[in-house]
Amino acid sequence: MEDKKTNKTFDDIMTEVKKYMVREENLQLITKAYEYANEKHKNQFRKSGEPYVVHVLNVGYILATLRSQPQTIAAGLLHDVIEDCDVDVEEFKQLFGEEILTLVEGVTKIGNIKFKDEKEYQAENHRKIFIAMAKDVRVILIKLVDRLHNMRTLNFMPEEKQQRIAAETLEVYAPIAHRLGISEIKNELEDLSFMYLNREKYYEIAHLVQQRKAERDSQVKEMINEISVLLNEHHIKFRIFGRSKHLYSIYKKMVNKGKRFEEILDLLAIRIVCDSVPACYEILGYIHATYRPIPGRFKDYIAMPKVNMYQSLHTTIVADEGHIFEVQIRTEEMDEIAEQGIAAHWAYKENIHISQEKQQKEIEERLTWLKEFSIMTGEDGVSDDAKEYMNLLQKDIFEANVYVMSPKGRVIALPNGSTPIDFAYRIHTEVGHKMVGATVNGGIVPLNTVLKTGDVVSIRTSNQSPGPSEDWLKIVKSTHARNKIRSFFQKQESEKKSADIEKGKEMLNEELKKRNLDPSEYMEKNRISNVVGQLTYPTANDMYYAIASKSLSCATVIEKLMNHTPAKSLGNDDLVKMFNRQENSRKRHTSKAGVSVSGIDTMKVSLAACCNPVPGDDIVGYITKGQGVKVHRKDCPNIMHEKSRLIEVHWDENLENREYEVKLLIKSADRSFLLSDIVTVVSQNKVGLSHVDSKVNDDKVTATTKLNVIVKNAEHLRTLIANLRKINSVNSVERVIQ
Ligand code: MN
Repeated sequence: MEDKKTNKTFDDIMTEVKKYMVREENLQLITKAYEYANEKHKNQFRKSGEPYVVHVLNVGYILATLRSQPQTIAAGLLHDVIEDCDVDVEEFKQLFGEEILTLVEGVTKIGNIKFKDEKEYQAENHRKIFIAMAKDVRVILIKLVDRLHNMRTLNFMPEEKQQRIAAETLEVYAPIAHRLGISEIKNELEDLSFMYLNREKYYEIAHLVQQRKAERDSQVKEMINEISVLLNEHHIKFRIFGRSKHLYSIYKKMVNKGKRFEEILDLLAIRIVCDSVPACYEILGYIHATYRPIPGRFKDYIAMPKVNMYQSLHTTIVADEGHIFEVQIRTEEMDEIAEQGIAAHWAYKENIHISQEKQQKEIEERLTWLKEFSIMTGEDGVSDDAKEYMNLLQKDIFEANVYVMSPKGRVIALPNGSTPIDFAYRIHTEVGHKMVGATVNGGIVPLNTVLKTGDVVSIRTSNQSPGPSEDWLKIVKSTHARNKIRSFFQKQESEKKSADIEKGKEMLNEELKKRNLDPSEYMEKNRISNVVGQLTYPTANDMYYAIASKSLSCATVIEKLMNHTPAKSLGNDDLVKMFNRQENSRKRHTSKAGVSVSGIDTMKVSLAACCNPVPGDDIVGYITKGQGVKVHRKDCPNIMHEKSRLIEVHWDENLENREYEVKLLIKSADRSFLLSDIVTVVSQNKVGLSHVDSKVNDDKVTATTKLNVIVKNAEHLRTLIANLRKINSVNSVERVIQ
């Protein structure tokens, strides 16, 4: 067992390293790393008063006990030089190469994450950002060992710092060590954190364990003897020993399972380690044949390993005196993996040459595996359902998400491709609305910059900000930000609408005054609502809005206001004025199409089928041979070269009840529920639908949808198109001209 209290020297490291390395170049690399670190840290001291190099020596030593690669040990010895000493990165690269530089930089980067202890959910995010940033399991391993040594020497820190570091260790570092299967490190990190966070409970449990130790030790010893005799009779090679639970796991069981200390300690634990898998089952057979197993407690983690690679047989038996024993049976290799997890899996073997590529591939595989872990909780293996769920989550979390931080260390998860705008809206809606700029890692960036995991983002706001820009809708990635920006515009629109209603009222008022008509009389409530009904507007406000947006003229309204007040007699002057003003429009001929042709009232007028004009569009008439006047949109390519046959036409003023068919073409990415989303938007906009045709294009990823919609006017159509464009994965919406 490693002596954790004594500081290690370089000689200690070399003794440990030489147990598994002999090649001169490896030993030289480690020596060179030590000499460099020793030189660079020479005038630095730790809080304990010891030279700084003592820290990196201990880190290097623990890595050596884990049988780490020479590069990992070198990086462990050098892990603090870039951060703490004035080291030139180029020089470092010259001396130690790209690989070690990358490892050290990775460790430095993680060390710079300022975790702010906030709400509980943050811990999960902290673990994710830690893993996502590390990119290489060796970086995580060095960082864990670094933290382990810092925890062992935490007593030199001020109380407040002890609490913060212990909490972070328990929430971020220990779970990661667990997921890597390194239970040695995990258990020690947990116990050390436990001691600093809850000294009283820690010493209480330690005391109770100590009190019962002698008694328990003798019970375990007796059982070990019995089993040894049994197995020796069958000539099986094995090691057997008692195990003690670490203090934090006892505490956790007491709290989580509501058990008393005695109940937990009632279980005595024994481990048997042998040299082959068949031997494991053989041993199990003899034990079950001799002692009564407790039903439901047998677990075969050899046939079905836990996800962190843990393998072992577990059984619980009752001995003669009624003592209950938990027995674990496993091979030497399984035992190593159980204690050192991924570190054991990667134990450096000098004589087995692994190519750089293969190694990298393995690292990547391990990382994928690690990523799967970081989203899992629970001690036991996972069911198929859980696996499925895990895969989806993994996609969500690691492929689809980036983790960025506020300058204060709050971790924010955003969909991949997110920008500072998404970040701002996630912080607070007002921060988004008032955003005028952003800095990422200290530098000013454009708002459409794509954020990367680990970026520190800060948002500049101003009360003078005019609010979000419509372009932001094209930039943002998160639904959250998109919704907030949209509702900003919707609010603005409804404010504009109420302003327009006031404006419409005012216009009518002015127009009445111009005609010497008394607004208070003509705009009397009942009179107005009568006219609103005749013009088929739902409310008076809708009518005022129509006036302001010029789709209804004051003249039309005034005419109605006058016509439908038979009780009131009009002055002659009023009538004359009105007639004069109405003269022009009376001369025009109103056709079925709702279009008047200046000066001609005998010709048939119809709407062109190629460009389907609707009221509000700029239009022009085309005099056909024998089919009267066809009305086209001014921008219709079909009449561009026919200047001599074109004639001026106008929309009629009162087209409220008419409907027009328009053809639309929607281009989008193909996805499920696309069509149903389109149809929903159409109906939400109170637009009729006469034809739908949607197909997936030959490329299999895009889709084309043809819609024939029935709208009232250009404004109605514009709103519809704008809303169709907002549908997720829709790329374009165009009116079709045939
Ligand atoms: Mn360090």
